Amino acid sequence: MKKLEIQGLKKKYNGKWVIKGIDLTIDEKECVALIGPNGAGKSTMINMIVQILAQDEGRITLDGQDAKSVREKIGFLPQYPEFYGWMSATECLHFMGELSDMEKKDLEARIKEVLLLVGLEANANKKISTYSGGMRQRLGIAQAILHRPELLVLDEPVSALDPIGRREMMQLLEKLKKEITILFSTHILKDAEEICDRIAIIKNGELVADKTVAQLMKEESSPIFEVEFTGDSDAWQQTLLQNKCVEKIEKIGLVYQVHTTNQKAGAEAVLSSLLNIQGEFIRVENRHQSLEEIFMEKVGK
Ligand code: ADP
Repeated sequence: MKKLEIQGLKKKYNGKWVIKGIDLTIDEKECVALIGPNGAGKSTMINMIVQILAQDEGRITLDGQDAKSVREKIGFLPQYPEFYGWMSATECLHFMGELSDMEKKDLEARIKEVLLLVGLEANANKKISTYSGGMRQRLGIAQAILHRPELLVLDEPVSALDPIGRREMMQLLEKLKKEITILFSTHILKDAEEICDRIAIIKNGELVADKTVAQLMKEESSPIFEVEFTGDSDAWQQTLLQNKCVEKIEKIGLVYQVHTTNQKAGAEAVLSSLLNIQGEFIRVENRHQSLEEIFMEKVGK
């Protein structure tokens, strides 16, 4: 079942479109990463989904209902959650629960439950001002899921954390994704790859890919031939680039990376080109584009 459905979403700032017509759906219990470079439009998208920013065009629905009318089904962790440092986690969650009109008896039990879930039970009565970055983010999650939302949206949840905090958060998300539908933004590919079922890549306000990691690797990863030899390469490069299957040649250190569209034709073109080099041949090796390289290509770096 479609949990979240976004159709033709657009937003403009100062007369300039920054979200240019995005369609995206997320199924029940799916975990999707919205990934793109800074300025791509991730926060703008997320703020519209969680209903703190109005779109100019398009529709956002949850279980088929306008997201505006079912706002309580969404839990949100902003990029920089703010807390009163003098409160403890328990006090903070009490305060939040009362603000969202949760019933007192239910609230007591639920606070214990979420503190256990996010691993803060031992520190529940310590002041938040003594918490590490990772603990604050986990409290942010506790707050976001307190009212039992069905969709959890997180804006860059781990990018400001140290490696230990990051690991704790990733483990928590891994646990949560069994229970709840998750959408989170990041500019770090490794985070997306680690826990997501699907990766939606955004660039300049447009979706440029929306696939599982396996699909991205299968459908978008093109063959690369790494070639090493000594001597002048100008004539070699020019001849090789005349082949239709050769897209580009990049030099990284001493290695020429020949990007091709087809494994067999690429191998033929590269191997035959090496018969005519001037210098000394060292090696040729074939590999496929990594996920990182596919991502970099998609976001245009
Ligand atoms: P990301 O989260 O991917 O870094 P943002 O959604 O923050 O990207 O920004 C997308 C684009 O919208 C950027 O060009 C940014 O400068 C612009 N933008 C974001 N918020 C505002 C705002 N309040 N006023 C004007 N422009 C904005």
